[in-house]
Amino acid sequence: KTAAKEPPKEHQIIVCVRKRPLNQKELADKKELDVVSIHSRDHLVVHEPRKHVNLVKFLENHSFRFDYAFNENCSNAFVYEFTARPLIRHIFDGGMATCFAYGQTGSGKTHTMGGKFTGRNQQNSLDGIYAMATRDVFSLVESPAYVSLNLRVFCSFFEIYGSRVYDLLVTGKPQLKVLEDGHQQVQVVGLTENAVKNVEDVLNLLDLGNSVRTSGQTSANSKSSRSHAVFQIVLRKSSSITERPHGKFSLIDLAGNERGADNNSVDRLTRLEGSDINKSLLVLKECIRALGRQSAHLPFRGSKLTQVLRDSFIGGKKVKTCMIAMISPGLHSVEHTLNTLRYADRVK
Ligand code: ADP
Ligand code: MG
Repeated sequence: KTAAKEPPKEHQIIVCVRKRPLNQKELADKKELDVVSIHSRDHLVVHEPRKHVNLVKFLENHSFRFDYAFNENCSNAFVYEFTARPLIRHIFDGGMATCFAYGQTGSGKTHTMGGKFTGRNQQNSLDGIYAMATRDVFSLVESPAYVSLNLRVFCSFFEIYGSRVYDLLVTGKPQLKVLEDGHQQVQVVGLTENAVKNVEDVLNLLDLGNSVRTSGQTSANSKSSRSHAVFQIVLRKSSSITERPHGKFSLIDLAGNERGADNNSVDRLTRLEGSDINKSLLVLKECIRALGRQSAHLPFRGSKLTQVLRDSFIGGKKVKTCMIAMISPGLHSVEHTLNTLRYADRVK
């Protein structure tokens, strides 16, 4: 087990990596091999097989350091403890927080954020970061430190597919417009923001959102892997949803990052989607980097994702971000894994 001691407290940006175990299929494949070793709580090495010109095979070792490196034995609860959980108090103190799950399709983004798949596109939302964050939010709302604030909790769940935004809390998945008013406030017009009273309410919304997200798809990973899913927990002091939030936590299951590198994709639509996804992930990286450098220029208009998340990027010290880069351990994924790690390395 990763020997982490204290969850981080003061950092504005946290970047972690999580390695999933080899799955049944990979274990059954004699040519598959685990090429990722996690040496300590923040240090990871990828052993990439290479060939010299004279065809002598060797392993090239790529070493990376992050705030945390979670190995394949770490549970969702353990990952949560060191990533999203330290940000919960921040939203009660009036801040904005975001947590991103980044990585190749099949690397464990949805597993980490939404919970385990139980088959036929159904997820057990109970043990994902969405549910764990919700549980902590409700226990803090009632805690002596915050009960006098009289905070009310609201939830939204939407999907960004290319430049289109869809509400996941309405059956039929209506498309929503994004507007920027003269005061640089970005609004997703008509986005459902449901008042929630307890964890159970939120789990029901998550189930609804997940089924809306994957409805009509043959597998849980077809179309949903090409869209960003944004789940938001919003704290408000009064019941009026037109009032600026007291605090907001956005938890984002990003689109798979492998498309751009995938030159084998024959059909044009897939390629176009790939360049769209790539662009939004590049802009996201630039926005997080700008945040870390307290830079005035935030290129948030460069993609729908960052435009919609604008209020989570501006506001100086009131903004905190965490990125969890998910990696598959297998030899067959090594190129995607290195891409993911290089991206995560550049974020901070
Ligand atoms: P992604 O959302 O990145 O495409 P998924 O979360 O759907 O990937 O994961 C792909 C499969 O691997 C799922 O069946 C999931 O349950 C499993 N999986 C992912 N991460 C883990 C993990 N840490 N431990 C066990 N199984 C995992
Ligand atoms: Mg997924």
